[in-house]
Amino acid sequence: MKVVALAGGVGGAKMADGLARILPADDLTVIVNTGDDFSHFGLRICPDLDTVCYTLAGLANPSTGWGRADETWNALNSIRELGGPAWFQLGDKDLGTHLERTRRLAQGEPLSKIVRDFSRSWGIAAQILPMSDHPVETWVETEEMGWLPFQEYFVAQQCVPRVKQFEFRGAQQSLPAVGVLDALEVADCLIICPSNPWVSIAPILSIPGIKECCLKVPVRVAVSPIIGGKAIKGPAAKMYEELGINPSVLAVAESYRGLIDGLVIDRVDQAYGEPLEKGGLHVLVTQTIMQNYIDRMNLAKETLEFCQKLLIFRKGRT
Ligand code: GDP
Repeated sequence: MKVVALAGGVGGAKMADGLARILPADDLTVIVNTGDDFSHFGLRICPDLDTVCYTLAGLANPSTGWGRADETWNALNSIRELGGPAWFQLGDKDLGTHLERTRRLAQGEPLSKIVRDFSRSWGIAAQILPMSDHPVETWVETEEMGWLPFQEYFVAQQCVPRVKQFEFRGAQQSLPAVGVLDALEVADCLIICPSNPWVSIAPILSIPGIKECCLKVPVRVAVSPIIGGKAIKGPAAKMYEELGINPSVLAVAESYRGLIDGLVIDRVDQAYGEPLEKGGLHVLVTQTIMQNYIDRMNLAKETLEFCQKLLIFRKGRT
């Protein structure tokens, strides 16, 4: 079964890792959000791509979920001593990734090729793709501070300002990265990882052609990032609230209305199974919190079985 997963950073990376541990490498493509990418100290930084790659390579910091394990912070401490901008955490090992990526981008190489080569060097077997080779920037309009570039909102302001809306600047002029549409065209199922629907998945779907191609994938399921009305980490639930929507698995289903035919929800949200099914969705209720590798693999396995079931069901109807 050929699988394409859409992923942001921490939640997406854990799910993608579970899938990568189960599926044959040739069967998995992960399309990653690059709307969070930005330039800092002249370096191109791709937080979600790096989180997914470090996680699948077994290099990720297990306690933060982002950055590298056994990291040191000499460069950042030097910047701090000199009074420079130290608000974005850049470890020494991580800096090496940004330096080499920036050097190659400056030579005109597409991001997708750089990611492919980095993946090979790190021993990642699955195909990891940025959503686009063109720069697309997520901007957040806030009540208190007006429009903010994503990292200014997310890291510098720690998601405190209240959100009003989002823009994915440059998306309309961009194209899907090389390989994205090819992977979707042959996919049997699309899995939307438990990533933030507003700022991790929506930017991917904003690239012209991606959503249309997703809709042609025979089976499409999402794993809810909202559990018991809350996000495990990050501002997803807060964003729903500030936009006047009660954060729940129903809200997640609404975010992906028309795109998905199945939703994976946590046991604590079991009571929502019936209303979701009445609304026309297939529902899998299971444990969706991934605290370790076993949890990741179990959730991936159950989600794949769910997809397989929906695929058989679909074939039976056509
Ligand atoms: P970011 O770009 O680093 O914010 O990463 P994502 O958008 O991929 O992930 C953020 C979302 O992941 C949040 O809404 C969390 O609720 C969700 N998340 C994190 N860990 C888990 C988990 O173990 N299970 C589920 N279901 N969701 C998770």
